[in-house]
Amino acid sequence: MLTPALRVTKPCPDDLLAWYDRHRRDLPWRAKPGETANPYRVWLSEIMLQQTTVVAVKPFYLKFLERFPTVEALAEAPADAVMQAWAGLGYYSRARNLHACAKAVVENHGGRFPGTEAELLKLPGIGAYTAAAVAAIAFNQKAAAVDGNVERVMSRLFMVEEPLPKAKAAIRTLTEELVPADRPGDFAQAVMDLGATICTPKRPACAICPWILPCQARAAGLQESFPKKQKKETGQLRKGAAFVVLRADDSILLRTRPPQGLLGGMVETPTSAWEPDYEPSRAMVDAPIEARWKRLPGTVRHVFTHFPLELTVFFARVPKDEPAPVDMRWTPRQQLHEEALPGAMKKVLAHALGDTPGAKPPAKASAKAKSEG
Ligand code: SF4
Repeated sequence: MLTPALRVTKPCPDDLLAWYDRHRRDLPWRAKPGETANPYRVWLSEIMLQQTTVVAVKPFYLKFLERFPTVEALAEAPADAVMQAWAGLGYYSRARNLHACAKAVVENHGGRFPGTEAELLKLPGIGAYTAAAVAAIAFNQKAAAVDGNVERVMSRLFMVEEPLPKAKAAIRTLTEELVPADRPGDFAQAVMDLGATICTPKRPACAICPWILPCQARAAGLQESFPKKQKKETGQLRKGAAFVVLRADDSILLRTRPPQGLLGGMVETPTSAWEPDYEPSRAMVDAPIEARWKRLPGTVRHVFTHFPLELTVFFARVPKDEPAPVDMRWTPRQQLHEEALPGAMKKVLAHALGDTPGAKPPAKASAKAKSEG
């Protein structure tokens, strides 16, 4: 993992902290120099920052804090009010966990966040990174908060050849070894700031980096080659046909996949088997219904974890008394958004119907469909 030949000097935390003292970002949740950090604010900001950027979080954070200025205020608030204040940040399970965490802090810890990583980890919605960040920043505990920014800095600093995500444990150890006993909170924030402002994913500003001398990747001129990432395994391309049937009453023919296996229990339009050598010109033998099928131009591509899929889409209209074949059903097009359609099938339906079934269709959607095909 490390490249001993290029091991120049060990990075010195003091160099980074001296840079931080001059260039630290002024963030609304961050204690000013000499101030004591507020654990509620630190925790709140870390949860919000898990899903979006500092710039996007700032106005949400300030509004949220105005509405729920303390952990008690948040714990006592009705769930609806919390969800409403969170609206726009997305990932609503995090808002639910945030509320549950506030209640746990009030009920089990008398309204004070526990100060150790181990205790923080027991709270709802707090994972390894957040526990370490809160412990370090709010309680000055010697904890290594390692997120994507920190991984990038450390992997460059030490030229970690092992690809992510396998390298996570090694990077964590390297970070832990650098955390100074006297200023662990400032160190955590300093590495975050370095990763966000100087050691950026593209074109890092090495010339003004406080760690330019010990940085191995910089010495080798390879800074943009790190972190190494494991190549996604892409299996062999599979092909198939998907059949979209629109009944005259504006219903779509669907079926539910078997509970086991790929996309188990999810809903799809009828399809052929998915095989590497599937030949779309022979797709009619797989069609679920006798109709005047039209092969639509182009294909729908979707990448599953283990293989990419290419579907040729066939479209047909049938009269409103057309019965559904065995194990299939008609779903009104206006209710497609209620079906458990996986991404690949949403693409198929969008390809055939020209709208996105994951979202509630607009009022004019059916009129649009009738002009197509
Ligand atoms: S010298 Fe460049 S690559 Fe190395 S840590 Fe600093 S900014 Fe990142």
